[in-house]
Amino acid sequence: MEKKALLYEGKAKKVYMTDEENKLIVSYKDDATAFNGAKKGVIEAKGIVNNRLSNYFMKMLETKGIPTHFIEELNDRETVVEKVTIIPLEVIVRNFAAGSLSKRLGLEEGTRLNKTVLEYSYKNDELGDPMINDYHIFALDIATKEELDMIEAYAFRINEALTAHLEEVNIELIDFKVEFGKTSKGQIILADEISPDTCRFWDAITNKKLDKDRFRRNLGDVEDAYQEVMNRLLVHDN
Ligand code: 5GP
Repeated sequence: MEKKALLYEGKAKKVYMTDEENKLIVSYKDDATAFNGAKKGVIEAKGIVNNRLSNYFMKMLETKGIPTHFIEELNDRETVVEKVTIIPLEVIVRNFAAGSLSKRLGLEEGTRLNKTVLEYSYKNDELGDPMINDYHIFALDIATKEELDMIEAYAFRINEALTAHLEEVNIELIDFKVEFGKTSKGQIILADEISPDTCRFWDAITNKKLDKDRFRRNLGDVEDAYQEVMNRLLVHDN
């Protein structure tokens, strides 16, 4: 397979076309942004960790029956994925209060939620990804009721699978964001990435943050935290 023209460059990834119509190559960068691009930086080797970790999680989720865009890891930073039309929703699942939920509801970070919370944000940088609900989603024709039911079911199953898997390496899954896409055949599949950029991972014993909050909040040890998550999972499997 041949890498062709750059299709899109995002904050953390580049996406290339290939000579095969339904396949793209994602290339993970070390660039990091936060607060809708207001804070910029570089996290050394982040692209390598996120590429490998995201593929690791996608492969694990495939074994649990969740369809993903993952096809093949090409090298340290690049992966072949299935081409989809991204559904412009950030699907957020929360097990513990943190981040914007803590702010919005005045809950101390780390408070276990009595019920898993599912939220949607409309993916739109200009608007700052505003939180929306299912009525907005139908009103804006972002997804149909059937599609949203499927997205919701997948999101909860992803949460269960990730939570159980991470528990084995003493990592608490606080919350995460996923995105879904539609294939040329109309199938909804998990797309984008699952990594310390898109999840909150806390050490289950010390509560140390092992995710992008270290960058967002200038907590230091950013590179080490990303590496730590990968090392724990890879050692666990060997
Ligand atoms: P919060 O709404 O508390 O800022 O984020 C909730 C969860 O979703 C966190 O795990 C966070 O990393 C993820 N998340 C929400 N929005 C974004 C986004 O625009 N980019 C990334 N990388 N993660 C996001």
